[in-house]
Amino acid sequence: MIDSNETEETAQKTPSFAIDSKSCWETYAGEAERAAMRELADRYVAFLTACKTERETVNFVREALLRAGFVESPAGEFAGDAVFRVMKGKTVFVARKGKKPLRDGFRLVGAHCDTPRLDLKQHPLYEDCGVAQLKTHYYGGIRKHQWLARPLALHGVVAKKDGTLITVTIGEEPGDPVFMIPDLLPHLAYQQVEKKLSDAFEAEKLNILIGHSPSAAALADATDKKDKKNGKDPIKTKVLELLNARYGIEEADLYSAELQAVPAGEAKLVGLDRALVGGYGQDDRVCVFTALNALLAAPQPEHTQIVLFWDKEEIGSEGSTGAKSHFFEYCLEDLIDAWDTGAHKSRVFAAGKAMSADVHAAMDPDYQDLHEKLNSAILGFGPVFCKFTGHRGKVGANDAHPEYVAWLRNLLDGAGIPWQMAELGRVDLGGGGTVAKFLAVYGMDIIDFGPAVLSMHSPFEITSVADVYTVMLAYKAFLAS
Ligand code: MN
Ligand code: MN
Repeated sequence: MIDSNETEETAQKTPSFAIDSKSCWETYAGEAERAAMRELADRYVAFLTACKTERETVNFVREALLRAGFVESPAGEFAGDAVFRVMKGKTVFVARKGKKPLRDGFRLVGAHCDTPRLDLKQHPLYEDCGVAQLKTHYYGGIRKHQWLARPLALHGVVAKKDGTLITVTIGEEPGDPVFMIPDLLPHLAYQQVEKKLSDAFEAEKLNILIGHSPSAAALADATDKKDKKNGKDPIKTKVLELLNARYGIEEADLYSAELQAVPAGEAKLVGLDRALVGGYGQDDRVCVFTALNALLAAPQPEHTQIVLFWDKEEIGSEGSTGAKSHFFEYCLEDLIDAWDTGAHKSRVFAAGKAMSADVHAAMDPDYQDLHEKLNSAILGFGPVFCKFTGHRGKVGANDAHPEYVAWLRNLLDGAGIPWQMAELGRVDLGGGGTVAKFLAVYGMDIIDFGPAVLSMHSPFEITSVADVYTVMLAYKAFLAS
């Protein structure tokens, strides 16, 4: 036997070469840090409650930027040292001039502001069996059963032929009605429960209840004209009357509308200790919120700072507002003209360093077997580096270069900011992708980096209050580097 003094001495003399992960709660245990964490979480909860679509998120960002003195610039020019440009109301490019010229590179944080949801079809409204319903087409990776039997709100825009754009939000204010999709009663679900989950819930059954009572005018008309024209579908007619009274729209206007059904209600702190945030759309609005706060809190930077919030990530980054579009490239061209005339675009891109700010799957305590423990992310242990995404042999992945990973390790460790390294689940069990690979094609260094989320893509996702704070500090340190 050895005595305890000897053991202590031996321990002191032996350096540890093993990884020493630290929880953010342990790292930021001081009173001031905890107060800052709490303040950020409260603002984050309010942001999640207010922003449930990409347009609402971009509007929120736009207003925050204008308050901070950023100048909104149209395509073709940038005026000033702190600028931004909005694309179709759904994507935003932000830049702040650094002390170094653009050709010496930039620091870019890119996140996405679209989230999985139920979009209304262009011809949505019908009545049957005593109720009026709305047909939907889901957007992004939803698990269909999670959207049944829960209050839903309608958010979006209706574009009228005269050019006016009407903003629609129903189901969020106290006193507002909500909507829902009925689920099958267990008494009649004997056949359904025997089916495979993918067969049990059909997309064409995701139809939203929107009305029940008949239009008085339609009923009166029906008696007179025997079910002609307005007399048909009195419940649907009533819904159209109400939509017209509230928004001045008619059925054909729904052809040129983007209406999204999202979970109704507020985001909330979760747990007796209020240490978790629960709410819809945290993938990826947690990265939008933390990146925006990091940008606004950063001092005059060494390198030009660029922050991009994209649309359409959840359906493959397509379209004019997704990360595959040329929007970013065109913005950078204008930025070179304004801030570093004559610099080669290729040189600017190649000197850039970027973070694909996106969330990572947190280890689920009830499904630990789907994760590979050594390479999993734990809630509360800080932002997660995901060196590669993709599936089945890294197919479709951006795989970040080790030299860049080392550079980032040095940056965060130097700033005392906890972080973790993980990959998405066990090999061959699933997979995913982000915007990283669409930026990597320009030659800039990029890696996925964001907080862990539990219950991802569900109507009520979970993040850690400590992680939200730490992610913001990490983006801030990166933007200031
Ligand atoms: Mn995401
Ligand atoms: Mn996602």
